[in-house]
Amino acid sequence: MERLSDIGTIKSILSRHGFSFSKALGQNFLVNPNVCPEMARLSGAGAGVGVIEVGPGIGVLTVELAKLADKVVSIELDKRLLPVLDETLADFGNVKVINGDVMEVDLKKLIEDEFPGMDVVVCANLPYYITSPVIMRLLEERLPINSITVMVQKEAAERITAPLGTRKAGAVTASVSYYAEAKTLFKVSAGSFMPPPKVDSAVIRLDIRKTQPVRVEDEKLMFAVIRASFAQRRKTILNSISNSLGISKSQLSEALGECGVSPTARAENLTLEDFAAIAESVRSYLARTQGK
Ligand code: SAM
Repeated sequence: MERLSDIGTIKSILSRHGFSFSKALGQNFLVNPNVCPEMARLSGAGAGVGVIEVGPGIGVLTVELAKLADKVVSIELDKRLLPVLDETLADFGNVKVINGDVMEVDLKKLIEDEFPGMDVVVCANLPYYITSPVIMRLLEERLPINSITVMVQKEAAERITAPLGTRKAGAVTASVSYYAEAKTLFKVSAGSFMPPPKVDSAVIRLDIRKTQPVRVEDEKLMFAVIRASFAQRRKTILNSISNSLGISKSQLSEALGECGVSPTARAENLTLEDFAAIAESVRSYLARTQGK
């Protein structure tokens, strides 16, 4: 098979299969020959490792992963790409393509069935319309995976990897940092894709934490506090949290007083420890007062 990242090769394969790009499915295929080998190398794919890929497209990253890893399972939603992948992956016996939606596939079962006893990593050039939902799903399900290496929009990369307590941080920053350590590996220009998207991209890697950096009794409440705080990020946390969680301002004031976080702070000033402390304080305040 000729080089898959070559524009001429891609065009001829796609035209032979009568394929046209779907904007709705976030189909921007990589045509920069340097990106996929580098992404695969930095993803942790290697001997004894199984890789889950989301959205193989025509398989340009898949073949690089298959060269390094013991096994690759790629989940592709677009049925029209299946005959293309049959052709482009024909030389790789260690790749399995599953036709489905990454948000619906049972990933726990997939890992048990396909990668018994193996270290597992995720590596993907994500469809950008579901970047955060895919990342949060992979993290929240506490799948037995070591890391997630993904191409995302540059702005999403900046947000996810921003230090908490800075203006670039958002709800996704705080939520991701509970489960993983995030870093940007390298930037990728819009011209590296066909068709080129409107924005530049970056490859980030999330290393899954073995233990969480903060302890909270009620994780759901902490994530609700995080979402509420960032949903109205210009407001003080007293306003934003009481509005969304349906707690009166005076109750919340008391709870915040107990954990030492200022009611006039804004989401972008807070650390994960602060969010955990607020959640813990609200939980114990409500348990005490509602029990009365
Ligand atoms: N990996 C290829 C590359 O780098 O050239 C293609 C990446 S393209 C940005 C995203 C791919 O994800 C497309 O092939 C698209 O059909 C697929 N896709 C979109 N939504 C999906 C979903 N919900 N589940 C699985 N795959 C999806």
